[in-house]
Amino acid sequence: MALADLLAQKEWDRPIFKRLPSNDTGEAPGHQGGVVIPKDLRPFFPGLTGTTSADNPTLDHRITAELFDGAHFLGMASTRYQFQTWGGTRSPESRLTDELGPLRNRAKAGDVLLIQRAIDELDRYRLILVRQGTSDFAYTSKAVGSRKWGSLGNDLPLSDPELRRAEKEQGDREEEPFQLFDLDPRTSETTGLRVARSVAFRQKVYEIYRGRCSVCSSGIKTPSGTSELDAAHIVPRGKAGADDARNGLALCKTHHWAFDRGLFSITPKRLVTVPAVVRAIQLNDKLAALNNQPIVESVDDRLRAHSSALEWHVQNVLLR
Ligand SMILES: [Zn+2]
Repeated sequence: MALADLLAQKEWDRPIFKRLPSNDTGEAPGHQGGVVIPKDLRPFFPGLTGTTSADNPTLDHRITAELFDGAHFLGMASTRYQFQTWGGTRSPESRLTDELGPLRNRAKAGDVLLIQRAIDELDRYRLILVRQGTSDFAYTSKAVGSRKWGSLGNDLPLSDPELRRAEKEQGDREEEPFQLFDLDPRTSETTGLRVARSVAFRQKVYEIYRGRCSVCSSGIKTPSGTSELDAAHIVPRGKAGADDARNGLALCKTHHWAFDRGLFSITPKRLVTVPAVVRAIQLNDKLAALNNQPIVESVDDRLRAHSSALEWHVQNVLLR
C-alpha cells in the first residue's frame, strides 16, 4: 500500500509530523528513551489530568500505538504519553516513551515521524517513520517543507480544546427541551469540530449506557479500555438528527447495523419490535427472539432515548 493511501484511511484523523532530531532516535545512547512532543503538538494528545509535585513530577497516559516503517507495519506497542515537570528544575517536557525501539532503532536524525490518531479510539495512535532516501520521504517532504513539526496537510486534527468545547455544547443542549432535528445547518463547521462533536456524542452515550448494547446488553472491550460499542443516532446525522444523548442509543455493531436498516425499532412502550417480514427469515432467529423485550435504559433518566425520536424511527426507518 502506498503511504498516501494509508494516511487517507477514514478511521484515522489527519496526520501531524515531527522531523526527528538525534535525541529522538536510537543514535544518542544514554539519552532518556522516547520521542519528545513539542508544545504545539500537545493538544493532539490526551489531556493529562492531575497535578505534579517534586515527589511526583510526571503525569502519564497509556496509549496503544501501531508502528510503521513507511507503509510497512512493524507491530503494536503499548506506549506512554508522559508529561514531565522535572520537579521545576527544567522546562516541562512531553514525550512518547516505552516500546518504541523498533522505530527508534531504524530512525536517523532528519527522518520524519508521522502521527495519526484513531477517530473512534482516542487512545490509539499510528506512528509512521518516513526515512530519508525513500520515495515516501520525497512525497512527505513536499508537505513538510522546512518546518520541524506541525500538521501534514492544511487541516489540524481533533484537539483537546475542541473536544472540551463540543462536550460543553452538547451538555448545554441536553439541558434544553429535546429538539428532534438540529436546525443549525453547520455548513461552516470545520472538520475538527465535526469530529469533536461526534466523539463527544459517542463518549456520552457510552457512559450513560455503561458500555452495554441497549437491546442485547452485550459489551466487549479491550484490556486498554476500548469498547466495541457504537453510539447510534436514532434520527441519523444525515437526516439532521441532533448530537444529543436523547437522540442516541448504545448499540453493539450487529444491532447498530440492523437498526439503521430498519430490521427492528423501539416502540413507545420501549420494547424492541422486529417486524414479521424480518422474523420470517430463518437466519434472523436471534434477532427475532428480542421481539417485545424491554430495552436497557440509560442510567441517567433525563437522557433516555426520547419518545419522539423513537416514533420517528418507527415511522421512517422500520421495515413493514
Ligand atoms: Zn446488541
